[in-house]
Amino acid sequence: MDNCIFCKIIAGEIPNYTLYEDDFTLAFLDITPRAKGHTLVIPKVHAENLLELDESHVKNLLLAVKKAQEKLDKVLKPDGYNIGWNHGEAGGQVVPHLHIHIMPRYVGDGGTNMHAIVNNPGSESVEENFKLF
Ligand code: 5GP
Ligand code: ZN
Repeated sequence: MDNCIFCKIIAGEIPNYTLYEDDFTLAFLDITPRAKGHTLVIPKVHAENLLELDESHVKNLLLAVKKAQEKLDKVLKPDGYNIGWNHGEAGGQVVPHLHIHIMPRYVGDGGTNMHAIVNNPGSESVEENFKLF
């Protein structure tokens, strides 16, 4: 997509620090890391989010996460990870090209976990919510 910064990275128009690449995916170091080794994994086709990504690319994307994580694990030897993505403005997504963050974690790094992202469960019970599906 013309104005997409990550499509430009894929096209080689913007340099990046590549950790892993194959025909379908690219994994590269985040330019503003929140942790040592903070990595982004993206599909080479433009899709704003997982719902828009063709199913045929999903397996390749997760495989690339594993490949990049294996490299990070070998080199940086972190104590743990948070891995995930922001979806939509409400979810904090800034770049509208699906990207999976790999955040290496180190004992004593002062970070927290996924549960700290939000605490807004609503007033209905889980049982009530389940009836909606
Ligand atoms: P989001 O908030 O959309 O999930 O995260 C976007 C991420 O992309 C941020 O962590 C930001 O640092 C990273 N980023 C934005 N522009 C660039 C860039 O040009 N190169 C790289 N390597 N990372 C970028
Ligand atoms: Zn794009």
